Amino acid sequence: MALFVQKFGGTSVGTVERIEAVADRIVATRAQGHDLVVVLSAMSGETNRLIALAEQIQAQPTPRELDVLVSTGEQVTIALLCMALHKRGCEARSFTGTQVRILTDAAHTRARIREIDNQRIRAELDRGAVVVVAGFQGVDEHGNITTLGRGGSDTSAVALAAALKADECQIYTDVKGVYTTDPRVVDDARLLRTITFEEMLELASLGAKVLQIRSVEFAGKYKVPLRVLSSFEDDPGTLISLEENREMEAPIISGIAFTRDEAKVTVTGVPDVPGIAYKVLGPVSDAGIEVDVIVQNVAADGSTDITFTVKRQDVDQAQDIVSKVAAAIGAKSVSVDKKIAKVSLVGVGMRSHAGIASLMFKTLADEAINIQIITTSEIKISVVIDEKYLELAVRSLHSAFGLGGEAAAAAD
Ligand code: ADP
Ligand code: ASP
Ligand code: MG
Repeated sequence: MALFVQKFGGTSVGTVERIEAVADRIVATRAQGHDLVVVLSAMSGETNRLIALAEQIQAQPTPRELDVLVSTGEQVTIALLCMALHKRGCEARSFTGTQVRILTDAAHTRARIREIDNQRIRAELDRGAVVVVAGFQGVDEHGNITTLGRGGSDTSAVALAAALKADECQIYTDVKGVYTTDPRVVDDARLLRTITFEEMLELASLGAKVLQIRSVEFAGKYKVPLRVLSSFEDDPGTLISLEENREMEAPIISGIAFTRDEAKVTVTGVPDVPGIAYKVLGPVSDAGIEVDVIVQNVAADGSTDITFTVKRQDVDQAQDIVSKVAAAIGAKSVSVDKKIAKVSLVGVGMRSHAGIASLMFKTLADEAINIQIITTSEIKISVVIDEKYLELAVRSLHSAFGLGGEAAAAAD
């Protein structure tokens, strides 16, 4: 008999019928004798709907009230699922993050989990109940409701699995597992049976929203066996493995991730003197804005250009801040481009293979896609391009690196 934490995402609980289907699945797992803690998201679209309601009243509501509002979506689904389980004669009880006591810091809308008190869950499991927990939410030490950032139910599930030392944390979603790239963009994206933590971490941080990055970090830190699988089909999905599979020749590229949610700020005519990058970027990060890619040109005529990217939602604020700095230091201009996208190739095999970057650049050149910025690390190469070429870039790279298609399918 095992203990599983199973998380069902928004689409998987998006209608009453889907909730009934999740209940059937849970009853079947219980019949095999396993203990279950179930973590749910809000119905798909609900969190967006709640945020839109708030925006009708106030452009920037206080983060505390936003959390009180958006955390309600998950409270609806946990109660409905328990009702569906009761109808099937299955013992079950729902709990909000506050009731379990998922203790977080006080950083509303992006809180981090500090501690989970699992006594209440244990007691419920001991009496044979299925425990259904609201994902995405916690409580700070003063009793304020907090939320964990978009996609945060994944992190709730992994944190619960770590706290309970579960045998596996299973993330049920609307695709069969982790693919070589988003299967909604590339038709012949290939389902990966295993992927290393390191690669999953990189894919998640570069935009593959199938797992929230913090959930992968958590799973790595606490060695939680993590699996992504479909709530619509019976398939073992993808195991995020803690060890690199040394028996198999590691593929050079394991996947392609992309984001459409960044924007680019360029400051031109910046005096080329020590401390200038700090002067420009210091105030941006002091404002709590996360800067992603940064490039500074080689200086000509004693002045240079600095370009950086931030989340699109932060770009107006970043522009205001940088414009003030630019005026103070005598820079020439500040411009913003919101129509950019970032495409990244990820693979641990890149460490030992040369030529990946040149094939990437050639592929994009053949499609006449201009590269605006390039950044690399040991296991990834990212390029910033015009957003309108995003899908073309992802498809052509996917095929140039042989990630999908016949050969790949046969290896499945
Ligand atoms: P949930 O509501 O279940 O949390 P999400 O929408 O957050 O689901 O995440 C699942 C989605 O992630 C898929 O529908 C898919 O479009 C997207 N996705 C992006 N990259 C990948 C990838 N490499 N593998 C699988 N899915 C991906
Ligand atoms: N409902 C939240 C969101 O839409 C959390 C989640 O689904 O993981 O972001
Ligand atoms: Mg999600």
